[in-house]
Amino acid sequence: MVDLDTSLKSLLGQRTATLLAEGLELHVVGDLLAHLPRRYHERGELTDLADLVVGDTVTVQARVEKAERRPMRGSRGSMLRVTVTDGTHPLALTFFNQSWRERDLRPGTTALFAGKVDEYRGRRQLTNPEVQLLEPEVDSDVTGPLFANALVPIYPAAAKVPSWTLARCVRLVLDSLGSLEDPLPEDLRRRHRLATLAEAYRLVHQPTDRGQVASGRRRLTWDEALVLQVALARRRREVEALATTARNARPDGLLTAFDAALPFPLTAGQREVGATIAGEIGRPVPMHRLLQGEVGSGKTVVALRAMLIVVDAGGQAVLLAPTETLAAQHCRSLREMLGDLARDGELGADERATRVTLVTGSMGARARREALAVIAEGSAGLIVGTHALLHDEVVFADLGLIVVDEQHRFGVEQRDALRARGRRPPHLLVMTATPIPRTVAMTVFGDLEISELTELPRGRSPVATFVVPAAMRSWADRMWGRIRDEVATGRQAYVVCPRIGGDGADDDTDAMADEAQGRAGRPAATVTDVLPQLVDGELAGLRVECLHGRLPAAQREATMNRFAQGQIDVLVATTVVEVGVNVPNATVMVVLDADRFGVSQLHQLRGRVGRGTAPGWCLLHTASDQATPAWDRLGAVAATNDGAELARLDLAQRHEGDVLGAAQSGGRRSLKLLALLRDEKLIREARVEATRLVDADPELERHPALRRLLDAALDDASAAFLEKG
Ligand code: ADP
Ligand code: MG
Repeated sequence: MVDLDTSLKSLLGQRTATLLAEGLELHVVGDLLAHLPRRYHERGELTDLADLVVGDTVTVQARVEKAERRPMRGSRGSMLRVTVTDGTHPLALTFFNQSWRERDLRPGTTALFAGKVDEYRGRRQLTNPEVQLLEPEVDSDVTGPLFANALVPIYPAAAKVPSWTLARCVRLVLDSLGSLEDPLPEDLRRRHRLATLAEAYRLVHQPTDRGQVASGRRRLTWDEALVLQVALARRRREVEALATTARNARPDGLLTAFDAALPFPLTAGQREVGATIAGEIGRPVPMHRLLQGEVGSGKTVVALRAMLIVVDAGGQAVLLAPTETLAAQHCRSLREMLGDLARDGELGADERATRVTLVTGSMGARARREALAVIAEGSAGLIVGTHALLHDEVVFADLGLIVVDEQHRFGVEQRDALRARGRRPPHLLVMTATPIPRTVAMTVFGDLEISELTELPRGRSPVATFVVPAAMRSWADRMWGRIRDEVATGRQAYVVCPRIGGDGADDDTDAMADEAQGRAGRPAATVTDVLPQLVDGELAGLRVECLHGRLPAAQREATMNRFAQGQIDVLVATTVVEVGVNVPNATVMVVLDADRFGVSQLHQLRGRVGRGTAPGWCLLHTASDQATPAWDRLGAVAATNDGAELARLDLAQRHEGDVLGAAQSGGRRSLKLLALLRDEKLIREARVEATRLVDADPELERHPALRRLLDAALDDASAAFLEKG
């Protein structure tokens, strides 16, 4: 009985099997059937030959116009020159010592030709291409014509394995295939009107029309989506099975006092998410939740309220930031928001008060020892630090909650490491302002429950964004003029540069800026160059200082502090200001060489202004020309403030791989068809089905075929994705 594990050798013979194995790494029936056509030619519809690119390996359908044989000078062989056409454009084919082909390639004959496009005397041609005639009557195969249908599948081919050889192998395999055990349960297939696995393979390999291709592919995409979601659902379940301490607010405790003193009403979203979180940390099962929300949507308050519940219940809560600057700022703003409630141990403090303790890698040994002591002994209820905090010797008295801020690449592995920190696994809240399309979130953070804050607190002004072309000098002048005007009315500004500059590695530079630099062939603006230019030129007389990742942490913190207190007018900085920095009095941001940043990143950056009630300005300065993709990206950022829309644009423009990171490279084998943007609906449905399946049968004992597919996916390199995130 032929099934997916049958070796190709036993079906196709040693020679062909070796070609498939060496050329395309296809070993068993399942490999071959999963090697899907890249596209389909309408039978008789000629390929547009104008598009051929020299160096590409192509398969074209074309009609023979003329063929002439000539002897080759200086040797005994012969050369056959054939001109084929798509009706408009000609293409030359040259065959050496294949004069017998002249019989087949008569004028008017249509055939498939495959080979690598080269150039001869300025004309594109194929040399010794493989040929497959399409007329059924000349197809000598005893089992009937190879391409009986109107659609001719074109496979990703290898040099020695032309597309039609693959088609022939697939046909042999399909003809002898028994019924396959289907990984998708029958009721699921019925609910979503999906073909069986065997049907799906027939539909994609031997379709009679495009509709069949689509339903075949949809079914196979479901396999991928379901396996992924089952793996994630099982992870969620594992977390559910862990036991932890339930934390509930004391009536009339810290949370109550904090809420009573809050200077603004919570938004409906903040209240709702707050209630969800309170419910979850009030259970003896670790919370495992992602909170997504635009910059300025007020995530910190939500996090702080959750942290206060834990302190109320006698535990400790940690807030982790990606950089020391942000950690220091969080510490400041938590103390500010808490006021007297953060002054435990000080004279006249509220009796319910706790203490906010900052731990960073760069603090002095003595200060650090003291901080660690109050954490270990439990009098520090709220602890703020960088992610490094969890890698060292910090001992907690009773760690109840970990909040991870602004870390959209925070992988499953790190999350697991975090959970291992407490005596019992703490509750976990991951926050991100990077707008990730929901389906990406469901995949990358598929083991987390997701909450969103969609509305901005009232009174927040929208940021007006403009693209400023470097070529227009007067525009640039007005741009610096805008900063001077705002500073004159007591406001502050940021000037963001893609690079730090000077000597040494640019640790704030991200791949995007590097890559763009290669493309533009021109170095991007650096903090170290721009600062003196502005101080001596456009911004002379203003208090201008710089901030970047190479400054000592203490200096960075001091600078940030003074900027927050209004003692600096303009901060020239790298993307260290990208996340979380909160200075409501800052109203203008100039981004130099803005084309060096990604769409989502620019959106993040401009979230730093317009955080108060005064309108914000974001000026995107660029040397790129109008009507280039770079210009269009900036135009898109200027045109909308909708982060979700920009995230989609980002994802559509970049490879999904950039977004998924390791997920993509590792998961390529198992995620062949699934596209996160296009297949949103399908991914949602698969998540629902996966949850249902795993709830009813966690080990998938009743679904052995699905279980095998899952195990294979987990064994695969994609395991790297699920483990590392
Ligand atoms: P983000 O989601 O970007 O982390 P923050 O938590 O830093 O946002 O909040 C941005 C600003 O909005 C802070 O100054 C915060 O005090 C303020 N804020 C938060 N919630 C509200 C609210 N409901 N009403 C008014 N201002 C709020
Ligand atoms: Mg924040």
